Amino acid sequence: MQSSDSNLSSPLTVLSGVGPALAKKLERLDLHRVEDLLFLLPLRYEDRTQLVKIGSLQAGQRCLVSGEVLLAETVYRGRRNLLVRISDGTGQLTLRFFHFSRQQVAQFKNGVRLTCFGEARKGQAGLEMIHPEYRLLRKDQDAAINETLTAIYPATEGVQQGRLRSLTDQALRLMQRETPEELLPEAVREKLDLPELAAAVQYLHRPPADADVELMLSGKHPCQRRLAFEELLAHYMSLRALRALANEDPAPALTGGGDAVADFIDGLPFTLTGAQQRVVDEILGDLARHHPMMRLIQGDVGSGKTVVAAIACLKAIACGVQAAIMAPTELLAEQHWRSFSDWFRPLGIEPAWLSGSQRAAARRTSLEAIADGSAQLVVGTHALFQEGVEFHDLALVVIDEQHRFGVHQRVALREKGIGDRGHPHQLVMTATPIPRTLAMAAYADLDTSIIDELPPGREPVSTIAVPETRRDDIVGRVREACQSGQQAYWVCPLIEESDVLDFEAAEASYAMLAEALPDINVGLVHGRMRPAEKERGMQAFKEGLIQLLVATTVIEVGVDVPNASLMIIENAERMGLSQLHQLRGRVGRGSRQSHCVLLYKPPLGQLARSRLAVLRDTNDGFVVAQRDLELRGPGELLGTRQTGLPDYRIANLARDAELMPGVQSAAEIIARGSPRNGDAIVRRWLGDAGRYGKV
Ligand code: ADP
Ligand code: MG
Repeated sequence: MQSSDSNLSSPLTVLSGVGPALAKKLERLDLHRVEDLLFLLPLRYEDRTQLVKIGSLQAGQRCLVSGEVLLAETVYRGRRNLLVRISDGTGQLTLRFFHFSRQQVAQFKNGVRLTCFGEARKGQAGLEMIHPEYRLLRKDQDAAINETLTAIYPATEGVQQGRLRSLTDQALRLMQRETPEELLPEAVREKLDLPELAAAVQYLHRPPADADVELMLSGKHPCQRRLAFEELLAHYMSLRALRALANEDPAPALTGGGDAVADFIDGLPFTLTGAQQRVVDEILGDLARHHPMMRLIQGDVGSGKTVVAAIACLKAIACGVQAAIMAPTELLAEQHWRSFSDWFRPLGIEPAWLSGSQRAAARRTSLEAIADGSAQLVVGTHALFQEGVEFHDLALVVIDEQHRFGVHQRVALREKGIGDRGHPHQLVMTATPIPRTLAMAAYADLDTSIIDELPPGREPVSTIAVPETRRDDIVGRVREACQSGQQAYWVCPLIEESDVLDFEAAEASYAMLAEALPDINVGLVHGRMRPAEKERGMQAFKEGLIQLLVATTVIEVGVDVPNASLMIIENAERMGLSQLHQLRGRVGRGSRQSHCVLLYKPPLGQLARSRLAVLRDTNDGFVVAQRDLELRGPGELLGTRQTGLPDYRIANLARDAELMPGVQSAAEIIARGSPRNGDAIVRRWLGDAGRYGKV
């Protein structure tokens, strides 16, 4: 029984009906304290606030009816069925049960009254409800009507709806006694028109009969926005706290080496764009401070992020400390290794290489050079930050294609520091532009730079969508392009969860194209090849020995072959917009007009059609990303499955990202006026550890 001193922060076992076994099950729903129940929001609602006349019932309607038993019989239709026919004077309805006890049969005597809730369906003899919830009524008892809509909670194994309803009832009762503290300043709530916390919670658990259910189902009810806002705020403040923490950590100030950097920039075969120069200045400014840089570079594909990273690395090396650059795939890491080698060898800097698939002897040599500091620059994959890699004096880490690394990895990287002299500076580069509001939520622990300008002379890639029934025409087009000295990519369908199938599809396309184009050198690169093989294929393509490269999406990120001007993408309808934009960014890197053909399997649905149209209509990665966010949600965009973007309890970034500007300004107001409330909000939503601070 609930004791009088239990409150919202008591463990769930203070609630009646909750023993250790149930408490354990509830833990799986992330429910630990009574207050947590308040934030377990219903998935949907059922209307048991009014009786529907049986005569007006429609098939498909889920509702409450009441009536008198006319007849109950057990029949055999392959299995035993209990049929109970009821009437309320306006019409008749059959209740059908497959599982029932003898007592149940006995209950349904003629003339007995009951109310029941279920979905009306067309049966053999008029409308019926299968296994409705029902309640018998006493002689002159009124039909049991609820005053509020009935909440349907997310189910968990072994916890029934009725149980969750009873638990939330108890929590709501406790809330009447002790309102959860309103932690949002009134000014913030008023400005954004957000209802008070306790009122919002009460409303969402037990909405009044006239609530706008449609609006609630869309997740945009003011009460839901109120909670989503506070949750986003909690995460945001937690990430900002992490940022503030980094601002107190020591890091080596990199102030020397100005001439080396200036000479390097002068010696490049091109002039930096205004945007690149601006971002370089921002980075050099950060590096000169005694605290670690935590900076994100966003830039559309082809905007020239790599050279900016190279300048940052050179700065560190010129100051006599180590830099490392980490890429998500071997292919991309190898490409960086080559670019950096070309740029830095003339300066007497030989980058070391580290990857998971490296031979033991080569690995040992690299590890030694990394440990004794003779490797001033290290290029590699995740292997860079595994056990057993000891850096001599690592002062700068560049993470390319950030979307596969999450906040937890960023935090963990801090530890790979340079001993007493502090933590390394971090520079992260995204492959995929991210809408501003989403970046605010996902990267609040970073400062952001945007390269919002492409190098001069780039023509936008012209993009068309073509049904795969016209594959022969497209093959003809590839032939013409290759015969006129251009190069082309043929990207094979991505087959989720199976690199075996991936590779078979690529092999099949390769065979088909090699046969159809006997005069053209066709190459193949896929994820199952050994790195050296992949490498050879890419290199041959880069040197023009291969004119058509058949590839799986391993080429998605970063591959740079300016002479390639045509790309065919098979099964484009299955891929994400941002991914297609990334792929497409592999062409249009030279000065020639480039083309991208999206092959799709007809018929195309409405959604698929409008998605492909986005790519046809724009070459701006930020616009593509915004549309991708709207159409598919943030998981695809940020790759949350691999990374640490949180599972929100209530907020949904696709739907609620627009709250972020308000979240940002609320965080500032709270930090200035009521920092204690800020801590309490973080604790309420992220637990005592404040999640991000702890790894
Ligand atoms: P991304 O931002 O997609 O990583 P890259 O760094 O691979 O782009 O650069 C794309 C191509 O543009 C490379 O071939 C690079 O050498 C070239 N590039 C970078 N900056 C400039 C510039 N300012 N002018 C001309 N070409 C540039
Ligand atoms: Mg790149």
